[in-house]
Amino acid sequence: MSCDHLICARCAGPVMEGRCPACRAAREELHGQGMLSASPLLIAIAVLLVLMLALAVHLHA
Ligand SMILES: [Zn+2]
Repeated sequence: MSCDHLICARCAGPVMEGRCPACRAAREELHGQGMLSASPLLIAIAVLLVLMLALAVHLHA
């Protein structure tokens, strides 16, 4: 999800360029949401890696 093509309702410019405070706020919010949506996936991958590592250590012991 990207805000590349969003047009600001306040300054009618591309939100990506951050021409006014509304643009910058919207851009930060979009990017923040993107990071939040990616976090559960990263946590799931990290948990999976730890489980695999624990399993590997258990098998080798
Ligand atoms: Zn704007």
